[in-house]
Amino acid sequence: MYKCEVCSRQADIHHIVHKNEGGLDFPLNYKYLCPEHHRGKQGPHRNSKIDIEYKLEMQEKLRNILNKNFYTMEELIIILELNKTRAKKFFKDLKLFKEGYKKEDIIYRLMGRKIYDEQMLEDYYEIMVVLI
Ligand SMILES: [Zn+2]
Ligand SMILES: [Zn+2]
Repeated sequence: MYKCEVCSRQADIHHIVHKNEGGLDFPLNYKYLCPEHHRGKQGPHRNSKIDIEYKLEMQEKLRNILNKNFYTMEELIIILELNKTRAKKFFKDLKLFKEGYKKEDIIYRLMGRKIYDEQMLEDYYEIMVVLI
């Protein structure tokens, strides 16, 4: 049984980069959340601020874990605990340099072809202020 990372109640797996945003099925993209913290008002599916915060957190983890500039597919599979077949399909059109795949390209792809930054949270606050 999984425990909610926010309140410790029984949880399900949430994909931080949602499947329909191009998220891959692998441990770093998982967040364990109870029904309330998953699909409730304080959950990423209904609260875009929380959604962005979780994505920034994941992106930061990826940047810390991938501390070299290039990686081979074999290294990525081990480091990120990826399913071999799925990973090969997922990264198949990523540019392959002679040193391997580029760190920033890997992160961009794993984040759903997007790079998140803190500014996105600030933009969100500004939108909220206008709405209030
Ligand atoms: Zn919870
Ligand atoms: Zn979810």
